[in-house]
Amino acid sequence: MTTVNETASVTMTFDVHSPGTGEVVGTYPIRTREEAVAAVARAREAFEWWSGLTYSQRAERLSKFAGVMVRRMQQLAALIHDETGKPYSDASLEAALAVEHLIWAGKNARKILGRKSSRVSLLSINNAASVEYKPLGVIGVIGPWNYPVFTPLGSIVYALAAGNAVVFKPSEFTPGVGGWLVDMFAQVVPEHPVLQLLTGDGSTGAALCRAGVDKIAFTGSTATAKRVMAVCAESLTPMVAECGGKDVLIVDADADLDAAAEAGVWAGMANAGQSCIGTERVYVHERVYDAFLDKLVARAGELRAGIDAEAKIGPITMPKQVEVIRRHIEDALARGGRALVGGADIEGQLVQPTVLVDVPEDAPAVTEETFGPTLTVAKVRDMDEAVARSNATRYGLSAAVYSKGRGRELADRLRTGMVSVNAVFNFPSIASLPFGGVGDSGFGRIHGPDGLREFTYAHAVARQRFAPLMALTTFARTAETDKKVATMLTLLHGRK
Ligand code: NDP
Repeated sequence: MTTVNETASVTMTFDVHSPGTGEVVGTYPIRTREEAVAAVARAREAFEWWSGLTYSQRAERLSKFAGVMVRRMQQLAALIHDETGKPYSDASLEAALAVEHLIWAGKNARKILGRKSSRVSLLSINNAASVEYKPLGVIGVIGPWNYPVFTPLGSIVYALAAGNAVVFKPSEFTPGVGGWLVDMFAQVVPEHPVLQLLTGDGSTGAALCRAGVDKIAFTGSTATAKRVMAVCAESLTPMVAECGGKDVLIVDADADLDAAAEAGVWAGMANAGQSCIGTERVYVHERVYDAFLDKLVARAGELRAGIDAEAKIGPITMPKQVEVIRRHIEDALARGGRALVGGADIEGQLVQPTVLVDVPEDAPAVTEETFGPTLTVAKVRDMDEAVARSNATRYGLSAAVYSKGRGRELADRLRTGMVSVNAVFNFPSIASLPFGGVGDSGFGRIHGPDGLREFTYAHAVARQRFAPLMALTTFARTAETDKKVATMLTLLHGRK
């Protein structure tokens, strides 16, 4: 950590290292409590202007932002690659998937949030009722490094489309990507700082939570979410928490095994396994276990982690995660597990694809988030056992089911926020679907109508259209009126 003289005061800075080469790819300020407060104050002024625009004016700007992202995709992908180590092609895919959300959120905000009539009952028939979802004000977005574009934009875009201003604290591993997003947005919205950047470490994130924001949108680990929630509790600041997972792939006896094996390898190992919705556990019907495993092992064996252009998997982004992955693999092997591909032989930040079998169900490799290119595969008697084992976790983010006949039925029985049937990773790109989990995977939703409402408050209005037939809300109410109400209620509901 170093210090620089910035506008006459000393500012602490931090370096970002390429996970592949170790070289410094950027140096950024660690923003302080005062700077967080100042950013939120500027955001509040920007909010006054931004929330005064019409939904279509905001949508137009969001679609222009999408245009800039598309035109500059290569530049953005290079930045993502430099900071996370992920291959260029994966980096481009991540950015491409985010574009859909920019368009959808802008286009649908008015329909979902705009004022709508609500039905009234016989007792309140003299009223016209309506509800509108109004922007909260300033949203603090705290993002992770594993998908530094797609994931924070899942909150940012929906918050902006709803009319909020945003202060964005990217992960200390990906501040350059965060800065790029904020700069590009400022090109299409130059009038006010509607989206601002706040670089720094965990202390900056905590400062943002205390800086007077109206809501925190947090994406990261469950442990950090608890710390953020404790800080938010001090000021009753609400939050949405998108945390980790221990997602399963379930393979039924009638599944297309080639498709399931391909999906398992990709969902478990793409992005070096550093995906919140990545597959970490696989449960396979005993009738197809051996055949499936052969196919999975063959595919995983063809993959290689490296920093060269041919490698389909990059290095682990966060150095300290390597030790978690090593611990999970070593523990699994020590307790009778076998590595059919890969193992604990890790070179620097390069973890090779690893397929583990015969791992006890209470081993960390099965119970804790590994966040590396590893899969545990277990045989189950039937799909009831697969569902029971899948649900036996504190997490509940997403899952995938491969079954020709029972896909929907099995999906319905999984306690997760999202389920893919005969596919993996298909729901995040469907902008109309909510994204989020249950249990240790967090609460609240981004994406879709729920994602828009997440950054609003419901504003209900009941307008009296004509004087009531029975005056209820007055001290002039008579015993006769009470009797009429009782009779009416008996007629309406008393016989149920
Ligand atoms: P962390 O929990 O370590 O950090 C998340 C963010 O919180 C970072 O910006 C971090 O800053 C910040 N932070 C750290 N400490 C504090 C604090 N005390 N107060 C406020 N903010 C703080 O997660 P990772 O960055 O390691 O991300 C990986 C995790 O994110 C995994 O568990 C993954 O499953 C989950 N994730 C969940 C997703 C979902 O949508 N459900 C999507 C993507 C990831 P800094 O980095 O500067 O320390």
